[in-house]
Amino acid sequence: MSCILTFVEQRDGSIRKGSLEALSEARRLAVAAGWNSCAVLVGHGVEGKAVELGNYGATTAFVVDDERFARYSAEGYAAAVRAAVEKCQPEAVFMSATAMGRDLSGRVAARLLVGCLQDVTQLKIDSGKVVAVRPVYSGKALATADGGAKKPVVVTLRPNVFAAEASGGTAAVEKLPAIPADVRAVIKEIIAAGGGELDVAEADVIVSGGRGLKGPENFTMLAELAKVLGAAVGASRAAVDAGWIEHGHQVGQTGKVVSPSLYIACGISGAIQHLAGMSSSKIIVAINKDPEAPIFKVADYGIVGDLFQVVPAFTEEVKKLKA
Ligand SMILES: Cc1cc2nc3c(=O)[nH]c(=O)nc-3n(C[C@H](O)[C@H](O)[C@H](O)COP(=O)(O)OP(=O)(O)OC[C@H]3O[C@@H](n4cnc5c(N)ncnc54)[C@H](O)[C@@H]3O)c2cc1C
Repeated sequence: MSCILTFVEQRDGSIRKGSLEALSEARRLAVAAGWNSCAVLVGHGVEGKAVELGNYGATTAFVVDDERFARYSAEGYAAAVRAAVEKCQPEAVFMSATAMGRDLSGRVAARLLVGCLQDVTQLKIDSGKVVAVRPVYSGKALATADGGAKKPVVVTLRPNVFAAEASGGTAAVEKLPAIPADVRAVIKEIIAAGGGELDVAEADVIVSGGRGLKGPENFTMLAELAKVLGAAVGASRAAVDAGWIEHGHQVGQTGKVVSPSLYIACGISGAIQHLAGMSSSKIIVAINKDPEAPIFKVADYGIVGDLFQVVPAFTEEVKKLKA
């Protein structure tokens, strides 16, 4: 039977939300087409997690468990995914378009000599082929593409666009041997940024600040609003380039692409390169003192005003509502 194989990303044994979204979308498409949905999980000490994947629609979960895979290794993980591909001969390989997914997808596609569709926001199966829609030219147009004649097509799915839905199923777990890959690059250490901050790429609510914040100290005001909303803090490139906040928070063409349920842009003008990273957000709120700012063209709700008055007042109102 035809199938879709989803690479499930884990960090320190925790499965990433974006992977559950990709797996759920694979199940939705597979059910409609009468296909199977399989998953591949790579890491060390992760076998126990494989059963969970059935809950998100995988009928078979392949596990490659090896101490050399405790940390991400592009070459090692690509060999592991390739082993799963050989096992189930999928029509498509799905991954979340995270930093790891973007890196791994190209490598897997190159190894298999197949097509790769990055950062897709819509998927369907048409005449037995997976067809994807993806934003191009900084989100100004949408391109529809399939992977060409050779299968499988490798597809990365934009995080927060597809819903993760538990379906209550169980997966048959199949262990695959770790392929002795020619691993030339080894990650020795990972230094995580700031204690336990929410990653903008996965957050459901983002409060983002731009040059209008005037200085790094004013990001604490945004952090306070983010805290009461359970949100992540994002930033424009102008704020990042000024050294007010780390690059990991940057949203846009040269930052992260986000699709939260709610994006609150504070003192951000709405340059095309910023919009490229957040225009697929479900609800956009813009706070800007310039009524002509381009951000208002994409905003669902706009507040023309001084963010130094609006943001603290907004934070207080949310606190009152939550009290
Ligand atoms: C190749 C390339 C890649 C790029 N990639 C990115 C990217 O990934 N992400 C990104 O963001 N940009 C990117 N840029 C930069 C982009 O073009 C803009 O320069 C940048 O987004 C502007 O940031 P900003 O909106 O914070 O600043 P500005 O454009 O200076 O806007 C500041 C806004 O704050 C408002 N404001 C000022 N004071 C207040 C106040 N008190 N209350 C309320 N509002 C106030 C102003 O009215 C203004 O609209 C890229 C550019 C290039 C050329």
